Amino acid sequence: MAERAQHVDAGTLESSDFRLVIGGERVRGDEQLDVIDPATGKVFARAPAASHAQLDEAVRAARTAFEMWRATTYAERAELVRAFTKKLRERQNELAELLTREQGKPLSQSIAEIDRGAAQSDGMITIEIPVEVLIDDADRRIELKYRPLGVVGIITPWNAPVNLALGPLVSALYTGNTVVLKPSPYTPLTTLELGEIAREIFPAGVVNVLAGGDDLGKWMTEHPGIDKISFTGSVETGKKVAAAAAATLKRVTLELGGNDPAIILDDVDPKAIAKKVFFASFVNSGQVCMAIKRIYAHEKIYDALCEALVEEARKAKVGNGLDPDTQLGPIQNKMQYDKVRSILEDTKKSGARILCGGEVPEGDGYFIPPTLVTDIDEKSRLVQEEQFGPIVPILKFSDVEDAIRRANDTRYGLSGSVWTNDLERGKAIAERLEVGTAWVNQHRATSAFVPFGGAKESGLGRQYSIVGLKGYMEPEVISIAKK
Ligand code: NAD
Repeated sequence: MAERAQHVDAGTLESSDFRLVIGGERVRGDEQLDVIDPATGKVFARAPAASHAQLDEAVRAARTAFEMWRATTYAERAELVRAFTKKLRERQNELAELLTREQGKPLSQSIAEIDRGAAQSDGMITIEIPVEVLIDDADRRIELKYRPLGVVGIITPWNAPVNLALGPLVSALYTGNTVVLKPSPYTPLTTLELGEIAREIFPAGVVNVLAGGDDLGKWMTEHPGIDKISFTGSVETGKKVAAAAAATLKRVTLELGGNDPAIILDDVDPKAIAKKVFFASFVNSGQVCMAIKRIYAHEKIYDALCEALVEEARKAKVGNGLDPDTQLGPIQNKMQYDKVRSILEDTKKSGARILCGGEVPEGDGYFIPPTLVTDIDEKSRLVQEEQFGPIVPILKFSDVEDAIRRANDTRYGLSGSVWTNDLERGKAIAERLEVGTAWVNQHRATSAFVPFGGAKESGLGRQYSIVGLKGYMEPEVISIAKK
């Protein structure tokens, strides 16, 4: 955390009255975190940060509340979740402004993020998890039931703090678990506000929210009082989470990074798809796990597609997310800004051709313009790594088999897409992508009723849908001998 501290005059802080939520109480942090506005690079707020002792308190509160919460019905829990999302919607505009301040994304996209999170939450609580009768004959009856796990620790990243908290939070609560939720140290504020709303709705101890640094995440993964970790973040940290969870055999759901390919076939009109492909690559300035991160375009439409994408990039307005005209905000934090700049430098040095963007403006905010790159070596960092920023390579292919092989030649496997007018052919190619989700003529579509998660090193388990919900539960067989 120390490297994140900046010169700050406490008098200039716009807000330092955020609180942790532990056992239904608003609590000061034993420590503090500075929160930086990425559009200015300046500290604008201060958040409480939890000590290990405060984590212990939160886990105790969650364990105590679990005994009562597990005995409630799905319908009772669903009703409280609905009351929670209603309050969330009432405060949507105010929360969206806070989200834009801490995260950087345009205000309209902050509103959309809260809206999507609330809608997906409302969707999930309509899913039934029935008792499955496996055998029922003259001799025996065998049922498969699902029961809650206990205390779920939720750890989230900084790119979509509200949406990525709500998915696991509502999954855990609806299935009868209690929660300790920890946001990224870069974006703690809106999540603390979610805690304040939850505090008004749920019984004390059911939802505990602790901001803190990476250490707090590590303590959670090691904590014997936590039964499951739902982690969203990078592959590198995900592996540490899995290793730490092994000590107590905690259940884990890992939603990790991606290097999504989009394969664009020769029968599309590049102009017709350019806007969709551009925004699926650059929305939130590329800081989306399931953004398009590599574009494979057939040689027949390659030049026209490059031209159409460059036109979109030139039109896109980059700026402070609070400005209503802004379409692309800053990179969320200095660490990521430096990483994306270093990939950009590496790309330039490699001799690749920058079609547009590529120059980082002077000034305080962490801004990088949308940058499209061609003639790039497949082995370069930009193609191999998850760039998680507004710089995307366009790679040429002539044989679709070659495109599929290159698209799959990665340790990542989050999602991918195929773009074509021939839906059957698109589906056949999509089925060969080694990913958790393969789209045809779209990218980045999710729903409460559709499981989302990664293949290969992009994750373990799924969020959303009955598949995701069952990940917050223990299957239990009840086997009755009738004779
Ligand atoms: P990160 O892994 O650095 O941090 C994520 C969270 O883990 C933070 O809250 C952090 O404090 C915590 N943490 C750090 N060290 C920890 C440890 N040892 N044990 C436990 N927790 C620890 O990731 P980030 O930079 O915040 O987020 C960006 C990454 O998240 C990208 O790779 C992106 O693709 C991925 N992501 C994945 C999804 C998905 O659904 N698959 C969604 C959004 C983002």
